[in-house]
Amino acid sequence: MTDYDPSNIFAKIIKGEIPSVKLYEDDDALAFMDVMPQAPGHLLVIPKQGSRNLLDADPAVLAKLMPVVQKLAVAARQAFDADGVYVGQFNEPAAGQTVFHLHFHVIPRHDGQPLKPHIGGMENIDVLKANAEKIKACL
Ligand code: 5GP
Repeated sequence: MTDYDPSNIFAKIIKGEIPSVKLYEDDDALAFMDVMPQAPGHLLVIPKQGSRNLLDADPAVLAKLMPVVQKLAVAARQAFDADGVYVGQFNEPAAGQTVFHLHFHVIPRHDGQPLKPHIGGMENIDVLKANAEKIKACL
């Protein structure tokens, strides 16, 4: 496994160097909409402290991050009246990881509705913003 590379795209989002549709921010965590959602309301929760993925993350960072993941999962379920919520993350390319800054996917799920492919098409920014407003209203 290689080291954390601070030039990754999520590090740039944390620094405000590239835009994102933000949902929640505190001193340690940031949540924003995934640009290639696998279902409406697909969001990402990341720690501000850099780690490549779960395998090299500081447990103290995880301890602060998981309540934020929970908070966003509860809000996303309510916002989309979902039957369930997928929470997950990938570690290393063999497992499907494509951005190398730890992140948790939070995806509202509805019975009988399959997910779109991982890294499928880009969603319209206005749709992402509208979905973000729904989630923020439930935070
Ligand atoms: P991974 O494959 O590493 O688990 O997931 C990376 C996720 O980040 C994917 O779901 C992808 O759609 C999303 N993503 C990639 N680049 C960007 C970006 O620039 N902005 C946002 N908001 N999401 C991104």
